[in-house]
Amino acid sequence: MRHMKRSFLALHSLLQESRCPCALTSARRLFSACASSPKVCIVGGGPAGFYTAQHLLKARSDLVVDIYERLPVPFGLVRFGVAPDHPEVKNVINTFTQTARHERCSFYGNVSVGTDVSVEELKKAYHAVVLSYGAEGNRSMGVSGEKLAGVFSARDFVGWYNGLPSKKELHPDLSCETAVVLGQGNVALDVARILLSPWDFLKKTDITQQALESLGASRVRRVLIVGRRGPLQIACTIKEVREMINLPETKADMLPGEFEGIAEALKDLPRPRKRLTELLLKTLKVDEGQQMVDKQWGFRFLRSPVEVLPDADGKKVTGVRFSINTLEGSGEEARALPTGQTQDIECGLLISSIGYKSLLIDPSVPFDPRTSTVPNEMGRVSDTSDFGQDASCNIITTRIQPKPSLIHTREDCTAVAG
Ligand SMILES: Cc1cc2nc3c(=O)[nH]c(=O)nc-3n(C[C@H](O)[C@H](O)[C@H](O)COP(=O)(O)OP(=O)(O)OC[C@H]3O[C@@H](n4cnc5c(N)ncnc54)[C@H](O)[C@@H]3O)c2cc1C
Repeated sequence: MRHMKRSFLALHSLLQESRCPCALTSARRLFSACASSPKVCIVGGGPAGFYTAQHLLKARSDLVVDIYERLPVPFGLVRFGVAPDHPEVKNVINTFTQTARHERCSFYGNVSVGTDVSVEELKKAYHAVVLSYGAEGNRSMGVSGEKLAGVFSARDFVGWYNGLPSKKELHPDLSCETAVVLGQGNVALDVARILLSPWDFLKKTDITQQALESLGASRVRRVLIVGRRGPLQIACTIKEVREMINLPETKADMLPGEFEGIAEALKDLPRPRKRLTELLLKTLKVDEGQQMVDKQWGFRFLRSPVEVLPDADGKKVTGVRFSINTLEGSGEEARALPTGQTQDIECGLLISSIGYKSLLIDPSVPFDPRTSTVPNEMGRVSDTSDFGQDASCNIITTRIQPKPSLIHTREDCTAVAG
């Protein structure tokens, strides 16, 4: 790591010198274009960073891109987030690898911007700095008990089974029977599926050996996926629900009472939502042949956590107290409001998958702590600070935003390249 940091510092000083016509053979790749070529620095080697690099390199034949990544390896959450049984999603790595190999692109791992080098320094060395460092903070539940043993963020849990170095020592205790996953998005379903997937199936995926062994010894038999709103607001896709339904030797365990009025609402739903809801309604019809299976999963709706319940020693989770909600409004905009009633659900493992937020990586970068975003106008960092006034360097954000999504930054790239 030290070696990498030294290399980075050397490169950094070369970059500063590169404002003059260059005769630096050791930096030939970097400076093969003449000194007046635009030089762009990308902070974060995840999909947003690589898509940006790809489009920039295409947009201008003289432009040079350097990608700085905090981890030793590239590809961000494509490597450490996407579920191990979804290899097709990771195919995008092939395109990113081509970009990384491009003669005008360089990747530097083990460089933490904000710590090893400041954004101020990068501004001096590059014509544009692109902030695409993802959303690494977890949204907290904001309830007592969330730090108890057995409570994890989905991001940490997913990082553990995907081999994220910092989560290697997570050692989740899987000796309980019931796990609760908070949130009903794709990541929540990934976690539920991995917990209930047969070991023989998991061992064919690229899950880590350590996680495979723990999951092989797991006693988790029941996973409840809990959301604060109703069946019509569920945030996952039909694909993930189908994968849950098709889990071998596992049955769906839903509460028919939670689906009252849903069949009647079907006719007014947009097609994708309608298909997803029809599939959910189908899971209510109990298949007699499935009575004997020993694993179960189910959605639970209209519940928000109000307290994580500890064991007698006050150390480990034994359950969650939920407020029971009602909906105000309808459709995607419906809001969950507490009714005042509560319900406890027992569990020995609680995984919270309620969203992510971006973090401030460098105090000189404008940041709105309320929304956890870098203020920007069409991607161009906008603030009253000197960022907006410094004409020598543009700061572009790939929409550092609370909810990560695979981002194509075409207009941002145009802003830089143009
Ligand atoms: C658990 C999980 C599972 C997901 N599964 C899917 C899926 O199956 N399909 C799908 O389409 N999407 C999935 N997503 C969403 C997808 O992974 C994200 O939308 C996408 O990775 C966001 O890209 P990004 O480049 O903005 O962020 P990231 O992928 O997070 O990349 C940001 C990079 O910046 C680096 N970085 C952070 N801080 C610094 C710093 N200070 N200096 C240098 N580098 C830094 C990080 O190490 C990281 O490599 C998943 C997300 C999560 C959390």
